[in-house]
Amino acid sequence: MWITVNRKCNFKCVWCYAEESSCGKDMKLEQVVIFLELAEKIGIKEPIIIGGEPTLYPHLEESLEKANALGLRPIIVTNGYLMSDNNYVKSLSKYNFTVSLSLKAYDAKSYKEFTGVSKIEKIGKAIKNLTINKINFGISITISSINVDNLYDMAIFSKKNGAEIISFEMCAPSFDLDGNHNSEYMVHPSILADKLIKTYKNIHDNIGGGVLYHLSQPFCLYPKDFIDKMKKDNALYGGCHVFSRDGIVFDENGDLLLCNCLCGNPVGKFGVDYNNVDTFINYWEREEVIELNRRLISYPSADCVDCEQYKECGGGCPLMWFSYKPETIIKRRSGNERISKEKIQYQCCP
Ligand code: SF4
Ligand code: SF4
Repeated sequence: MWITVNRKCNFKCVWCYAEESSCGKDMKLEQVVIFLELAEKIGIKEPIIIGGEPTLYPHLEESLEKANALGLRPIIVTNGYLMSDNNYVKSLSKYNFTVSLSLKAYDAKSYKEFTGVSKIEKIGKAIKNLTINKINFGISITISSINVDNLYDMAIFSKKNGAEIISFEMCAPSFDLDGNHNSEYMVHPSILADKLIKTYKNIHDNIGGGVLYHLSQPFCLYPKDFIDKMKKDNALYGGCHVFSRDGIVFDENGDLLLCNCLCGNPVGKFGVDYNNVDTFINYWEREEVIELNRRLISYPSADCVDCEQYKECGGGCPLMWFSYKPETIIKRRSGNERISKEKIQYQCCP
C-alpha cells in the first residue's frame, strides 16, 4: 500500500511526476489513519509513506505513531535531504520504520543539475545519521536517461556511505492531470537492457549481495541465462502490483490510483466511492474496479499469451506501452537468445 501524503517537495527533479501533478495539498491525517487501519485489516505490515517528500508532511510523526500502535512498520520513501540533520533523525528514531532513500545522482555537479539542490554531502550525512540512529534503510535508484551511464558509480557511492541494500527501479512514464503521458526521461527498453547486461557483473563483483533490480521490462530483452543468474544472485525482485492486484495506491486526496505514476487519474474517489475501511474494501472488490485493473494489464503482445515467463515478467510495465510499440520490442524466445538488435526498431508510439 502506498500512502501519498503530499506532492510537495524540497527538490525540483527534472523527471519528477509529482511536479507535473502537484496541487500542493497535504493528505488529511484522518485519511492516513483510515488507510493505516485498512493496511492492518487486510494484512499489509509495511505500508509505504511516499510523496512528494514525506519529511515535509506536518503529520509524519503522528502517522508513524499510529502505524506502530497498529503493529505496522511503515517504509518512508524520501530524498533524505532533511535527514542530514541528526536531531531530526534522532527524534524519529523512537518509531519503528524503514527508510528507502531515493538517490538522484552521485556527484555534486549532476546532483545540482538534476535536483536543483546542491550539497550532495548532505545525503552522505543522512545515510550516516540513519546508521548512527540504527534506523533500517536502503538506497533506491530510479534509472532514467539522465543517470543510466552512472549506475556503477551510484551503487559505489551508496555502498561507500554505508548502504547495505541498493535497489534499482526503472523509470516509467508520468501522466499529468489531463492524462497526457511523458516518457522523456525513460530509457528505451532495449537500450536499458544492453546497459544492465553490461554493468551487472561489475556492480555485482564489486558490491556483492544487497543489490536488487526491479526489472519491470520484458524478460525476452535479456538472455535467459542472464535472468537465471540474477535469480541465483537474489538480485531480481518485484513484479508489478497492478499485474498481481496486490497493491493499493492512495493519492494526497485519498483517491485510489492503479499506480503512483497515474496521479491525476484516480479510479476511485474518497468521500464518493468510499470513506472508511469497510466501504473501501467493498469498492475494491467491485467488478468495474477489477475490470479497470484488468484493462491496464491486458497482454501487450500475442507472444506473451503462452510464454512460460509471463507469470514473472507480465510483459513488462504496462505503462511503457503508452510510449513504445510492443511489436517493436517483444519477441518470445525459444532458447537462450535475446532479441537481436537488428530486429528491434527504435520506434515510439506517435
Ligand atoms: S514474450 Fe511477453 S511474457 Fe514472454 S518474456 Fe517477452 S514480454 Fe515477457
Ligand atoms: S504499472 Fe507497475 S511496473 Fe509500471 S510503474 Fe506502475 S507499479 Fe511499476
